[in-house]
Amino acid sequence: MNSLSVDFFSSEFSPSYELEMFELLVDGKPMAAWLMDTNDGIPLWLVEDGLPMWRPHDPHPDPNLRIVTVCGCGEYGCGHSRCTVHIEDATVVFDDFQGNVSAAARAIRFVFPLTEYEAVLRQVNEAKARDATWTLSDLR
Ligand SMILES: [Zn+2]
Repeated sequence: MNSLSVDFFSSEFSPSYELEMFELLVDGKPMAAWLMDTNDGIPLWLVEDGLPMWRPHDPHPDPNLRIVTVCGCGEYGCGHSRCTVHIEDATVVFDDFQGNVSAAARAIRFVFPLTEYEAVLRQVNEAKARDATWTLSDLR
């Protein structure tokens, strides 16, 4: 069994432009380090409910396919990795990694306690709610 947690941070690109981000930590190590995909965390602007679904803003996204890392610039179209997320009894399984994930890491399979996954989703949604006033139109 793996352990899942989340870390929040600001990625500052210039004095007037920064992104609120979060990254998933598996056994204390950033998801991007496990996947060796050279990506970073997930920008909060992409969040609707929990981990962003694939594809974002699609009228019929796949709720079992979630984005887990995004390019450091914050644009999922520039680069990201995603995986299948499914609940099995009291656990959550992350597998079938796709996207920028390195070939060597594609077969990774993480299993987390459902309670840890739910706690992470709660923290992400709370951070998103605090960040709700932020919109793309705020950028100049
Ligand atoms: Zn990029």
